[in-house]
Amino acid sequence: SRWEPGTRSLLQDGSARDGKGFSAYFTKLSRGRREVEKPPRSSADPPAAEDISADDIFVAVKTTKKFHQSRLNLLLDTWISRNMHQTYVFTDGEDEELKRKIGSHAINTNCSAAHSRQALSCKMAVEYDKFIESGKKWFCHVDDDNYVNVRTLVKHLSQYPHTQDMYIGKPSLDRPIEATERLGDNKMKPVNFWFATGGAGFCVSRGLALKMSPWASGGHFMNTAEKIRLPDDCTVGYIIESVLGVPLTRSSLFHSHLENLQQVSRSEIHKQITLSYGMFENKSNIINLKGAFPVEEDPSRFRSVHCLLYPDTPWCPPGVAF
Ligand code: UDP
Ligand code: MN
Repeated sequence: SRWEPGTRSLLQDGSARDGKGFSAYFTKLSRGRREVEKPPRSSADPPAAEDISADDIFVAVKTTKKFHQSRLNLLLDTWISRNMHQTYVFTDGEDEELKRKIGSHAINTNCSAAHSRQALSCKMAVEYDKFIESGKKWFCHVDDDNYVNVRTLVKHLSQYPHTQDMYIGKPSLDRPIEATERLGDNKMKPVNFWFATGGAGFCVSRGLALKMSPWASGGHFMNTAEKIRLPDDCTVGYIIESVLGVPLTRSSLFHSHLENLQQVSRSEIHKQITLSYGMFENKSNIINLKGAFPVEEDPSRFRSVHCLLYPDTPWCPPGVAF
């Protein structure tokens, strides 16, 4: 298989986390550890290039109807509740309850609810179009198993002018992905590029997003994804790095459950931009946080993170020192 380990493509291709998949996953976990063991930067906050606020950011959350209860509600109760104006939920089915909660910010993409490459690209295409339509300065994409600390996100993005070409996130591989571009008349061309893993979240400046338009707007995104036969996040990397020649800016503040989340330093949880949670071999991969709720009540740790960041939340236990 020419699918690279650690991409969604591998998981979607039926080869799941078996054989090569498992060892690739372990490699990734230890890589995650090395990454977080690096000493924290001692410099103060970087200077702001632009004075942006949360309202300048468009946060797209990708979900699917079967996860509205089990995943999305947790996000609505936590970080989305504090960031209703900048958050848009992209799903694939009608949900009156969701509409009641967030109104027009619930977007039914009418994409298929299958976990196929096409279905996921279809959603990303709608996210892109809605962002362009919004007029906002930054496009950020996250999965429905991500917690977003919007305050740190704003601080991080304000280092860069939104008119410049910026693609910010964290790769899940330790080398560029090798893909094959299908040209017309049966010609194939090998391409190598870095991409930010969708499961950790990534951001694109408006300046760059506008340049992506010929390959990303309308139906073009799905055509581009088919041309390289890779999932949505890889396709974004392909358009930006391969087609436009803009390099990915890495940030270790984005986290997916493909890394060992235990390695996120307990004292630096409030500084991270995204967090995640997941299962691996029936063991949960979650951040290490004592927090307001025990693991049994808060298995993702997102409620505890939320109480750490927004202690005035009514359902957070008062006066708890963490
Ligand atoms: N997802 C989707 N359609 C599906 C399955 C998943 O849109 O049929 C979304 C899901 O809501 C999540 C993302 O795709 O935002 C990744 O799914 P998941 O976390 O289950 O898989 P991962 O790729 O992280 O292993
Ligand atoms: Mn996931």
